[in-house]
Amino acid sequence: MNRIITVMFLTAGMVLTGCSSGGAGSPAAGDIEDVPMVYTPSGLPAPAQSGIPAPAGAAENLQVLDWAGFAGAVSYTFDDGQPSHVAHYDELNDTGARMTFYFVSNMVAAGAVTTFTQAVADGHEIGNHTVSHPQVDAHGNLSGPSWPDSAASPEEEMDSCTAYITGTFGQSDVWTMASPFGDSNWEAYAANRFLLNRRVGGGTVSPMDTTNPHSLSCYMALSSDDASTYTDFIDEARAGNAWRIFCFHSILPTSDTWYEPVDIHDITYSIRYAKYQGDTWVDSLIQVGAYWIAQKMFAGLTPVVTGNTSTWTWTLPDHFPPGKYLRVTVDGGTLSQNGTDLVWDDHGFYEVALDAGELTLAP
Ligand SMILES: [Zn+2]
Repeated sequence: MNRIITVMFLTAGMVLTGCSSGGAGSPAAGDIEDVPMVYTPSGLPAPAQSGIPAPAGAAENLQVLDWAGFAGAVSYTFDDGQPSHVAHYDELNDTGARMTFYFVSNMVAAGAVTTFTQAVADGHEIGNHTVSHPQVDAHGNLSGPSWPDSAASPEEEMDSCTAYITGTFGQSDVWTMASPFGDSNWEAYAANRFLLNRRVGGGTVSPMDTTNPHSLSCYMALSSDDASTYTDFIDEARAGNAWRIFCFHSILPTSDTWYEPVDIHDITYSIRYAKYQGDTWVDSLIQVGAYWIAQKMFAGLTPVVTGNTSTWTWTLPDHFPPGKYLRVTVDGGTLSQNGTDLVWDDHGFYEVALDAGELTLAP
């Protein structure tokens, strides 16, 4: 696909002003503060390129854009509903990017109900991290919870946590999970409940690849990191057409260090760095992951061709959230869904509503 990057985003504000964040050659924090998040009618962020004319050729060659038209994607996930997440929520939210908070429902930090209710209202995702954060063996026996009072079964650990999230924070459902301790035995259970499950460790996800959606890799942040740790991964994702998931635990400064604390400014600098590139999709796990799943689903479809008209129909995968879209291009023609023509977005795509279950391309 053509990828036209607005030059302004690549050259503006590259003068270093002595800020320690990001390392040599990186833009200073003050120069990347105010890149706004622009969302298209689908609710997905817009890439920087704009002013792209609608295609005017033949009604053929439908292509789903990788990563919603971005060069790569990154997701910021935060585990355990920690007090330091509550304390630093406003700074995270002020970046304008959506994130995922994996919540343990029998460990409700002071202020967590207010903060995570606000997070849902702000568009962030609350994910399932079980009731008590136990490990599970191959026979379904629970052990070693991080917090007392584990539920009766793996299923109950997941379902009670989901019920808490939907009943308390106002999120309509829960679509993703993170395995406590990254324990791989959780993956089979997660597959029966959730679209996606994140473990710990490993690499990136690529469009159309065969990554197990219930064993998603991530980079687990370490206290020895600095902002360049994350900006290097962001650059790798951009260059490699890949999705990098970050997993954070405690956020500094805090008096509640639980595990591998990282400075808030290193996190927020890296988020702003990613936005500043204009070609990097920063979004919650469910937003990026649902797109990745849907692109693969669509690729498996065979359109019904009648004359010059092609029609695709589909059923969404189990546990797929409502209200999601794919971004596509064609050589030309008219795309429609259930009789309504789609409107070209000059960021370079049409937006296909997945809930419609149908797409037609005609001359
Ligand atoms: Zn955890």
